[in-house]
Amino acid sequence: MNSEGKRPMRTTVGIIGAGPAGLLLARLLHNAGIDSVVLESRDRAYVEHRQRAGILEQGTVDVLRVAGAGERMDREGLRHDGIELRFDKKRHRVDFPALTGGRSVMVYAQTEVCKDLIALQLKEGGPLLFEAEALAVEGADTDSPRVRFRYEGSEDVLECDYVVGCDGFWGVSRGAIPAELTRVFERTYPFGWLGILADVAPSHDELVYARHDRGFALLSMRSPSVSRLYLQVPEGTDAEAWSDEAIWAELERRFETADGWRLERGPVTQKSVTPMRSYVHEPMRHGRLFLAGDAAHIVPPTGAKGLNLAVGDVVTFARALTHERETGSAELLDAYSATCLRRVWQAERFSYDMTTLLHRAPDATPFEDRLQLARLERIAGARAAETDLAEGYTGFPFG
Ligand SMILES: Cc1cc2nc3c(=O)[nH]c(=O)nc-3n(C[C@H](O)[C@H](O)[C@H](O)COP(=O)(O)OP(=O)(O)OC[C@H]3O[C@@H](n4cnc5c(N)ncnc54)[C@H](O)[C@@H]3O)c2cc1C
Repeated sequence: MNSEGKRPMRTTVGIIGAGPAGLLLARLLHNAGIDSVVLESRDRAYVEHRQRAGILEQGTVDVLRVAGAGERMDREGLRHDGIELRFDKKRHRVDFPALTGGRSVMVYAQTEVCKDLIALQLKEGGPLLFEAEALAVEGADTDSPRVRFRYEGSEDVLECDYVVGCDGFWGVSRGAIPAELTRVFERTYPFGWLGILADVAPSHDELVYARHDRGFALLSMRSPSVSRLYLQVPEGTDAEAWSDEAIWAELERRFETADGWRLERGPVTQKSVTPMRSYVHEPMRHGRLFLAGDAAHIVPPTGAKGLNLAVGDVVTFARALTHERETGSAELLDAYSATCLRRVWQAERFSYDMTTLLHRAPDATPFEDRLQLARLERIAGARAAETDLAEGYTGFPFG
């Protein structure tokens, strides 16, 4: 009983956070006949409208389909078979299927993935509590870890066999792993992304990654009528300091080509700045507490890997727990951290490479500028280099 005489809730897997990691994990466990409870500190509308990722790797698409969450994605998502690299006013298309044996990616916004998974969970799955804030994970190294949380004005306890911290970079789970057992690897970048959503059809049918002496720019999209565009800006930039006119003018400069390509303008409906960070917390497991997604690692968004890494982690956990249920062996659970970290570090490397390939550091020298262009020319001219990019972009295999 807790201090108010209430019996604690009990479940097999306590999941903290209803972002893509927590929601997909709840779905995978439900499909495997394992019960869970999801605690989410924000309300449903907030979770469903938080603008973030938009590129799903082939493996993520496959997992969502098998999980029964791919129906709307297949109807409304946009399959992309390549990206364009733009530098020195030139354009080079990277053809994913031709370079990877048929792999591609899907443009389908994180907001939509979350909406689909929330709808499924509320209809078919276990409890998903919004505005339920986890305060602490206790007893991670015992057989019965607990999550203390605040819900509807009072404190409660969720007793679990396992806790999975899917609570993002700012969550509480990571803090439950003792500092002396932890190693953190981190890099921050002296620039960020100013991102806009605009009500205008994308000016190109695939993503365009532009390297320019004034900085990086990315043309992306959310749907056939909504564009998502980004500009590299100095670290600490205030989005409101950029007028819509200034943003469009700068985008036009950075995307300019020698063949007269045009960027279509439209009403800007949202504007924000995202800082850039690489971060890995090792290990990703302590006793019966497992970290998944942004709770354990962050990549700069250039490689479009964050959401896809989160998916890889929870697939690995769900498989490991199912294996333990079916065979009695905890070998896959014991290997969870090492299995996930192999893929995480490949994604860290890829995201770092893409970031340093395309962004201009404030202190970049002419020598480094030339090297960047040489790296881009190499990708455009050598199949081995281009294949490496295509394989990384379409995704590393789940562990
Ligand atoms: C601008 C931008 C663009 C991006 N583009 C891409 C892209 O193209 N492709 C890609 O793969 N990735 C991209 N990412 C990264 C991607 O959005 C994240 O990696 C992804 O959201 C990680 O999912 P998650 O479930 O681990 O964490 P989150 O989505 O952060 O979810 C964590 C959840 O936990 C909740 N929470 C936090 N603390 C508590 C608590 N104490 N109690 C209960 N709940 C809590 C939060 O409210 C949140 O709902 C982008 C990110 C940004 C910011």
